[in-house]
Formats: sequence, structure tokens, C-alpha cells
Amino acid sequence: MAHSDNGFFGQFGGKYVAEVLRRPLDELEVEFKKAMADADFLKELETIQKDYIGRETPLLYAKTATEILGGAQIYIKLEGLANTGAHKINNAIGQCLLAKRMGKKRIIAETGAGQHGVATAAACAKLGLECIVYMGEVDVRRQQPNVAAMEMYGAKVHPVTSGSRTLKDAVNEAMRDWAANPDSTHYVLGSALGPAPFPDMVRQFQSVIGNEVKRQASERNLDVEALIACCGGGSNSIGFFAPFIDEVSPRLIAVEAGGIGPGPGENACRMSGNASRDGILQGYKSRFLLDEDGQALPTRSISAGLDYCGIGPQLADLGKNGRIEFTSALDTEALDAVKFFAKNEGVLFAMESAHAGAQAIKLAPTLPKNKAIIVNMSGRGDKDIFITCPVFRPAEWKQFLVSELKRLEENEDIHDASLM
Ligand SMILES: *Cc1c(COP(=O)(O)O)cnc(C)c1O
Repeated sequence: MAHSDNGFFGQFGGKYVAEVLRRPLDELEVEFKKAMADADFLKELETIQKDYIGRETPLLYAKTATEILGGAQIYIKLEGLANTGAHKINNAIGQCLLAKRMGKKRIIAETGAGQHGVATAAACAKLGLECIVYMGEVDVRRQQPNVAAMEMYGAKVHPVTSGSRTLKDAVNEAMRDWAANPDSTHYVLGSALGPAPFPDMVRQFQSVIGNEVKRQASERNLDVEALIACCGGGSNSIGFFAPFIDEVSPRLIAVEAGGIGPGPGENACRMSGNASRDGILQGYKSRFLLDEDGQALPTRSISAGLDYCGIGPQLADLGKNGRIEFTSALDTEALDAVKFFAKNEGVLFAMESAHAGAQAIKLAPTLPKNKAIIVNMSGRGDKDIFITCPVFRPAEWKQFLVSELKRLEENEDIHDASLM
């Protein structure tokens, strides 16, 4: 499973934080290790994974897609069937359960597009914990459906007004809160990055994906050539790959956001592009898209979850040593993949996951029919209607929004009667 060496994965990782955060991070590391050695904790985790998240998630043979592409058999890990619609709940539930065991009653989280905020808010609702989500003011405005979901789960969404008022400012604000309230509060970080022990911890809680796949593939005697996952911060990919990292096969392929092209600011390719460099940002050393002064460069992607300027340190290390192959898919290729798997398999990929789907479409025809490739559908696409509908049916979608607005205005007196 390739655990870190004292927080480091080769040259990447570490714990580059202010002195006040050292103690809570050290305490977290000790408590996490204890919990993972505690049979009662593991049993409780397994029960909630089964009954609340809905594990295990199925491994679907994509028969029609396979026949159309005419090469390797395509299998899809339907992680999007997890409660709340994506893999992020695996990490949120794991960390919240750990926080509860540590006696923390207050949970904070950062969120960009809102997916991690939704998962954490849901986990807190389930486990009876107070939840505060830091979210850039710009993102709060752009991501109203997720803000509404978080509030329905009982979380308090705290708009961040500093800096660019987006994800990295929300991370800074969450770190500040944690430093001020380390005894009462746990900070649920949302991807396989940040200072140690988060990369190890997030991989551990997400490795349930890979462990299930390993069992499911062996039960069916699949000759697996490659695993393919999309890669933002890296949590779904590292969890999917985890039990295979120390083996020589299958190939592990991570797909980054190719955006609209290879130029600067047009994508979020930290590993597959040529614009990134080694850096230390937000508590860890990794590969980042940075300018000359070490400031985060703007990124671009149609998917809200793949546009972070950094990548988890373990992924950076495994990319550097060649165990993980990095590639990218363009916005248009991801949209085509959404359509392809919806029409031929009845499965609606999230825009993020569709980047992995696009790579499967490219790879399958180049391989023999006795080989299998497994795509992690990290999330389902219901959440993306505000992205996909304007592309697929622009005129009708616009008409729909206008008439919805009109309907809302006409019924304002009804909606005023608060249900909350
Ligand atoms: C957030 C998100 C991602 C990207 O995050 P990783 O940490 O790289 O997994 C991918 N897919 C979905 C559905 C997401 O919500």
C-alpha cells in the first residue's frame, strides 16, 4: 500500500506548517494509527460503509461499449452509486468517525466546487457532529445547489472573502480556524494532499475502492491490463490504485484535466503537461502549476473537481518514478465520453470521471480482447446538469431557466412560508 516514510513519498510530502499546527497534526497521526489497529473502530467503519454509503459499489461490465470499441473488455467501478453521489464520502465518513473517536465535536472543512463540503456535511449529519464549511465567496455564488445541500444537511457555510475568494483561500481559512481551535475541532481535508498525515489517511479511507476492485476482478478472473482514474488532488485515483502500487501490474493511469488545450492557463496538467514545478504550498511539497514568484497559476477545466493547481505528494512521486502513467483528456473528449457511456451503458459519468472514461475509449481499441481495463467512475453526473445541459441543449436550457425564474417570482409568497 506504500505508506509514507515519515510523511514523505520520495522527495514529496512533509509537514510544512506553522508551529501551532504541529501538535494537532502529530496528535492526528498518533490517533489515526491507533484507530486503524482497533478492531472495534474498523468494524464500525465497515458497518457504516455498508449501511450508509452503500458499499460495496458494483463493478459493471460495459458490454456494449466494449463491442463498439472492439478491443479490451471495459469494466466500470460504479463509485458514483455511493450515497451523496461520489467517492468523497468514503474519506469524509472515515475522518469524521476518527474525529468522534478522538472526542472532537466540531468539524471544519474547505470546499471549492462544493463536493467535499457536501460529503462532509452529510457525514456530520449522520454522525451528529457540528459542521462548518469554508468556501470562497466566488464559489458560494457559483455553486448554489451544493451550498443548499450543505445547509440541508445542517452545515454552516462560511464564505471566505480574502484573496481570490476561491479554494486556496478557503484552505487557508480552515487552517487558521484549526490552529485556533485544535482541542475541540477536527479539520477534514478533502483530497490526498496537504501536510502529513493527510495524504496517508485519505489514501487509507479511499483504498476501500481498490480493495473491492481487487476482489471483484479476481472473482471474475479478469486479466487486468490497466486501471484508469481521473486525477484532481488525487484521492479517488490513489484509493483505487492503492492495493496495486507495490505490484508490477496492472498499468495505473491517471488522467488530468486537459481543459481547452496545452497552453498556459488552459488546463490543469500538473504531471502530464510541462508548466509545473516543485514547490511547497499549503503545507506540503509536491508538483504545482506556479508562476515565477511561486504564486498559483490559473487553471482551466470543464470539471469543477480537477482544476486544483497542486497534486497529492504520493501521486507526484509515483508519477516521477513511473509507476503511475499520467495523461490528460480535453473538455470536449470528456463531454464525448459522458455521451458515449450514457447512451451505450445507461451510466451517467460525472464530468471529472468522464476524463477517465475518455482515456478508456482511447486505450481499449489498442488492446487484445482477452485483456480488461477498469475505469473508476468516481462520481455520477446528476450534479453536472448546469454544465452539460447548456452544452447539449443550450436553447432549451435557457428557456427552461427563464421560465423557472418566472415561476419562482410568481410564487414568491408561497416560498416565503419557510419550512426550515
Ligand atoms: C472531487 C472529485 C474528483 C477529484 O478529486 P480527487 O481527489 O482527485 O479524486 C473526481 N471526481 C469527482 C466525482 C469528484 O467529486
